[in-house]
Amino acid sequence: MIPVSRPKLAGNESRYVLDCIESSWISSIGEYISRFEQEFAAFVRCRHAIAVSNGTTALHLSLLAFDIGPGDEIIVPSLTYIASVNAIAYCGATPVFADSDELTGNIDPVSAAACITPKTKGIIAVHLYGHPADMDPLLELARRHNLFVIEDAAEAHGAEYKGRRTGSLGDIGVFSFYGNKLITTGEGGMLTTDDAALAAKIRLLKSQGMDPARRFWHPVIGYNYRMTNIQAAIGLAQLERAEEHIKNHLAVARLYDIALAEIPGIQLPVEQPWAKHVCWLYTIQLAAGLPPRDVVMERLAATGIETRPVFYPAHQMPPYQYLQNKNLPTAERLSRQGLNLPTYDGLTEEEIAAVAAALRLALVETS
Ligand SMILES: *Cc1c(COP(=O)(O)O)cnc(C)c1O
Repeated sequence: MIPVSRPKLAGNESRYVLDCIESSWISSIGEYISRFEQEFAAFVRCRHAIAVSNGTTALHLSLLAFDIGPGDEIIVPSLTYIASVNAIAYCGATPVFADSDELTGNIDPVSAAACITPKTKGIIAVHLYGHPADMDPLLELARRHNLFVIEDAAEAHGAEYKGRRTGSLGDIGVFSFYGNKLITTGEGGMLTTDDAALAAKIRLLKSQGMDPARRFWHPVIGYNYRMTNIQAAIGLAQLERAEEHIKNHLAVARLYDIALAEIPGIQLPVEQPWAKHVCWLYTIQLAAGLPPRDVVMERLAATGIETRPVFYPAHQMPPYQYLQNKNLPTAERLSRQGLNLPTYDGLTEEEIAAVAAALRLALVETS
């Protein structure tokens, strides 16, 4: 079986984890946490990085940092992993769904602009599957309407927009270190920002709202969203090899580009001239007229190749359907016709050729 993704733990991971156990610093205090935060800030090229329990809690904190609550509206692309939207609901605020850009699947700035109302407080831009969203028009829109911008960079570690790393462009960047992400800690997350006041507020909220100058005094209601030293130990080891890992990961994407180039009717991933796409998951679109996406996925599974459907649009999910007063045709089409192929550092040239051959067959078979 060829899986969609597989973590690579080939560096100092086991040595650092063993160090946590032998030193007994296994909880959320320990030197690996600050080292991982410092190294991650350097990786993103920003001032502050705050480690948390996962990417979803990072998103929740990013909104709490702006005091988001009932009555507030947050613009978010419908075509994203559900966590980007759920975080808005956790705050009691209302997600307002924007449509996607045709080529990258990312939030369409024109559609985002049409979502603005007097209640809009911010925009969440998601760098879908590793391709950065078109940030300049979004940042300009936000400036004009006095909105904040959160980057959901959970799928885009090391990606760049006009030479700047994702997570350093908006007011706050959010990362996930789930097992299938480009950098993993098993479960884990990070917030990045250049704003010292926002960083301090996030640190307060992630650790039960305890006054840093007065133990067990809690001026606000906080959360336990802390990362453990063991997770950070894995993260630090991952980070030591991140640039090489991303290079190997991209080499897989380039091999797919060649292997799939001749197959008629499939759209390969696009990289905008201003983007460094890290291609977290290699995503293709099947043209109308080819067998349905789910049939193609079943045929690939029958030959031992795991694939994933592109995310279902959030505005069609049961908890959010009541908000739907419009169609989002591009998000709906990309979701219906798209699939993610196995993409990970360690996938061999032979395996890539096998995926390409199986895909070719799956597209011509009729039944
Ligand atoms: C993975 C992911 C998250 C959530 O991260 P977890 O660590 O699984 O909580 C959020 N947004 C996007 C776009 C993701 O892909």
